[in-house]
Amino acid sequence: MKIGVLAVQGDFAEHLDTLETIGVEGVDVRRPEQVAGLSGLILPGGESTTMRRLIDRWGLRDPILELAAHGAPIFGTCAGMIVLSREIAGGEAPILPLLDVTVARNAFGRQLESFEADLQVPVLGDQSVHGVFIRAPIVERTGPDVDVLARLDDGRVVAVRQRNILATAFHPELAGETRFHRLVAAMASEHEDPGEGSGRRPYPTRRSRLGR
Ligand code: GLN
Repeated sequence: MKIGVLAVQGDFAEHLDTLETIGVEGVDVRRPEQVAGLSGLILPGGESTTMRRLIDRWGLRDPILELAAHGAPIFGTCAGMIVLSREIAGGEAPILPLLDVTVARNAFGRQLESFEADLQVPVLGDQSVHGVFIRAPIVERTGPDVDVLARLDDGRVVAVRQRNILATAFHPELAGETRFHRLVAAMASEHEDPGEGSGRRPYPTRRSRLGR
């Protein structure tokens, strides 16, 4: 299994380190022809406006959309979540609109440019996730096929999944948190070898018990 990390900009090195920690081969992706053979792809944190420019300039848009259409897992953290969102509040055009959510960029304002919070993420087990938020977005709206995976104490949504698309407003890769990457690897092997006759869907498609 090979999981790509989009390496145009941002904290891709930390994602590659996290993959190495869990024993999964990571590939830094910069060229369109690198995308097709991947088992999954991670879009790191950084600056979504820069990523938008480089995704287009380097011809990565169509290969990534195609990989997603085949059902490979795509995981975005922070700027990566913005890149995946169907709607960006304020009217910016979407970049890779794979996730039926509306996000607001830099949603915590100047007072709280960065902060950390312990989050309950039931799909990852009982032990809380230490969320590192840096000029983070917030999910303002989730479509009917989107599962909410985590909220802040005030109820605002900070982690979501829609079938093979996973996104967090925070940075697990900066907190030594490996469970999201393990989930991506599990989704990737499920995608590549769904098992016969199970008749079940690999990922929940409707708002589940985690919903509002
Ligand atoms: N504020 C950045 C943006 O809007 C995201 C920050 C991050 O990825 N840590 O793209």
